[in-house]
Amino acid sequence: MTAELLKRIRDFTANELAGKDTHFDELPEQPTAEASRLHDLGLANWWVPVQYGGLGVSLTESVDIVSELAYGDAGFAFGAFLPVLGGIMLQHFGTEELARPALEALAAEGGRIAVLGSEEEAGSELVRITTTFRTEGDRLVLNGDKYFSTNTDTAGLLLVLARSADDTADFAVVAIPRDTPGVEIVKRWDLLGVRGTGTYRVRLDDCAVPSASRLDGGGLRILEAGLNASRILIAACAVGIARRVRDLSMEYAAVKRLKGAPLTENAVFAGKLGQMETLIDVMRNQCRAAAGEFDHLLITSARGGTGLHRVGTLRSALAAKLFCGQAGWEVASTGSELFGGLGYTQDHPIGKLVRDMRFVAVVEGGEDVVRDLMYARYVVPARKRR
Ligand SMILES: Cc1cc2nc3c(=O)[nH]c(=O)nc-3n(C[C@H](O)[C@H](O)[C@H](O)COP(=O)(O)OP(=O)(O)OC[C@H]3O[C@@H](n4cnc5c(N)ncnc54)[C@H](O)[C@@H]3O)c2cc1C
Repeated sequence: MTAELLKRIRDFTANELAGKDTHFDELPEQPTAEASRLHDLGLANWWVPVQYGGLGVSLTESVDIVSELAYGDAGFAFGAFLPVLGGIMLQHFGTEELARPALEALAAEGGRIAVLGSEEEAGSELVRITTTFRTEGDRLVLNGDKYFSTNTDTAGLLLVLARSADDTADFAVVAIPRDTPGVEIVKRWDLLGVRGTGTYRVRLDDCAVPSASRLDGGGLRILEAGLNASRILIAACAVGIARRVRDLSMEYAAVKRLKGAPLTENAVFAGKLGQMETLIDVMRNQCRAAAGEFDHLLITSARGGTGLHRVGTLRSALAAKLFCGQAGWEVASTGSELFGGLGYTQDHPIGKLVRDMRFVAVVEGGEDVVRDLMYARYVVPARKRR
């Protein structure tokens, strides 16, 4: 990425997102005017490969882009980058007939793709999902309830994880146009944080699509491969939120006086900010390292996603999400405490930043789930230990 592109993102954040904490915290209607503006500037879905009309920005470079957007609003950033999850799945596991129009539309129209995996009862044990597909002639028919799905209402395409009604061991990812009869938005969640995005509960009632809408390979593995990208960018959101907490803390401390001097000259404050900066640096570096590994994997993966399919969940992506969720929480908590009583009110943005930060540790695998995955994939198999 050129420095020029990052500067354009910074300008967008300053001009379109800054000073709008209240607006984004009010569950704004989707798509937001700010999302349309990002598209007008030619910056929406910046990661779409050049062969589909996009800017072809790498995941490594996307870490800084997402950090900048999340500095403005983490919910906006989340909604803006999340189509990368479906985009990776489509590009590497879908046929060219399926992937090309969807990816070209993301670049040309600035639209969204949603991924529908999680369910109420199954929780993180996706092997227990009950959404099914059955074959009827040359069509697949899907039925089920999906508990959480982001961007669904505004997406052109939904990628649904389902299991075969005839063979419970067969999981598939099936692409369903949003306007397919039977797709029903049950509700929009009243989220605690990242309220600038739209997350929905969705019902699928006899949704019929051509059989060619199934992505190639086992559905659980396809989802796992794609989640590397979005988990790293969720972690990058923590970097942006933490940078904002740091800057707000410095602004506050410059005018807050303690023992006859500004708080910025207090040694205890200096220690807190020094610790914050250290965490931010390690968070950013872990995101970049994980994204670099993912980019390398994409380059070496043949079409059909062989490399991605073989590797599944990247250790570095798990580490980025887990570490940034924890370190980000520490930064947010320290920041909140710094503002004294004001830090415990809705009158200062710090409260929103604390709520926004929480999503990093929860979405796309809570801490227990990520630790469990890390253990199962990278500790139990002795050959994978470093
Ligand atoms: C804002 C938001 C956006 C979302 N967007 C999407 C989306 O676009 N698409 C989508 O498919 N989903 C989405 N989700 C769902 C999200 O990814 C899940 O909610 C998240 O991964 C947590 O899973 P869960 O809710 O199933 O809870 P669970 O993971 O089932 O957790 C429930 C409890 O079980 C415990 N637990 C679970 N597994 C283990 C384990 N292995 N060991 C020990 N304890 C364990 C947890 O610690 C917790 O206490 C979204 C959720 C939110 C809040």
